[in-house]
Amino acid sequence: MYEKSLRSQIAALEAYAPGLSIEEIQQKYGLSQVIKMASNENPLGTSPMAAEAIRRHAAEAFRYPRGGNPRLVRALADSLGSDSSSIVVGNGSDEIIDMLIRMLAEPGRHNVTCFSPCFSLYPIQAGISGVMVRRVPLNDDFSFDFAALLAMTDADTRLVFTTMPDNPSGFCPKAEDVLGFASALAQRAPQCLLVIDEAYIDFADDEKSASLWTSGRLPSNAAVLRTFSKSYGLAGLRLGFGILPQEIADAYWRARLPFSVNILAEEAALAALRDTCFREATFQTVREGRSLLTKELRDLGCTVWPSQANFLLFKLPEGAIGAADCFEALLRRGIIIRRLKGYGLPDHLRVSIGNRQENAAFLAAMREILTEGGRS
Ligand SMILES: *Cc1c(COP(=O)(O)O)cnc(C)c1O
Repeated sequence: MYEKSLRSQIAALEAYAPGLSIEEIQQKYGLSQVIKMASNENPLGTSPMAAEAIRRHAAEAFRYPRGGNPRLVRALADSLGSDSSSIVVGNGSDEIIDMLIRMLAEPGRHNVTCFSPCFSLYPIQAGISGVMVRRVPLNDDFSFDFAALLAMTDADTRLVFTTMPDNPSGFCPKAEDVLGFASALAQRAPQCLLVIDEAYIDFADDEKSASLWTSGRLPSNAAVLRTFSKSYGLAGLRLGFGILPQEIADAYWRARLPFSVNILAEEAALAALRDTCFREATFQTVREGRSLLTKELRDLGCTVWPSQANFLLFKLPEGAIGAADCFEALLRRGIIIRRLKGYGLPDHLRVSIGNRQENAAFLAAMREILTEGGRS
């Protein structure tokens, strides 16, 4: 009865397709043990200090959080050596992405520009807002064509989204190239904000030089987004943060839903920021696992793209089982990875780096599937 009442952007919407959950696969295939390597979550789980903080503060759940999350913002400013007036926090960096689009781009008039494929949330949230999306294809090797991206922008472009390292490829553009793009963009579209999504940058071999922000070179027309979902191991609590130009940060606090970051997420994050041991162990696990999986998948004849993130994009050997069948064969063995149909990459697969046992189980399953033609 209400179908006709839906705004056209909403009626036409396809749901965001998340990685399959462990419970779904356990039920469908009658498995007791399932390994999930589909959503780039932390291979070591939750930081023990964060888990302890959640337990310790559970009884405060009846309280509203403090507006503006001042303790968390201050802790982030301290830990990142940044000015707290430019830091914002959100219910995942997803919320910040959505807010930036709604705050800066006028529906029906302005546009948002990004690569194709890219993290699907940028075009989805722009579409929901009724803002036009312009897409620029990635190069064949998944590197960025910044000249083409620039050419797609104009005076009505309010946001350009880039992801470094990129999802789903793991490609990380050179900081110099991003800087060059930012300065050309400032000339061409002075009102436009360049959003650099650094969700995975702390997994890079050299975060310090890879990140424009950590290296102190963030241009004034750029913003950086980071998240507690990956290296901090708190994806389920939903917490992201951004470093925004001050006027935009200021408007963000006025425009967002007042309590989108909850009390337990805040306490967990404060603890996770202190748990440097856990993060170091995470980085070591991811870097070791990344080398191992890259090498072993290549030995099996797969094409594996070089990755600076906690996942790998790969393609199966020519003439072997297809990506869809391989994905299913892994599911039957209790291993969930990610298909990329929604990204327009039906022949590619993405696997998140797991812990030692998970990586070993995944490689053993792949060996079986590729040498036996997927029989199970
Ligand atoms: C995982 C991810 C994020 C983080 O999103 P949250 O809402 O903070 O969980 C942001 N950007 C990209 C490209 C991602 O892959």
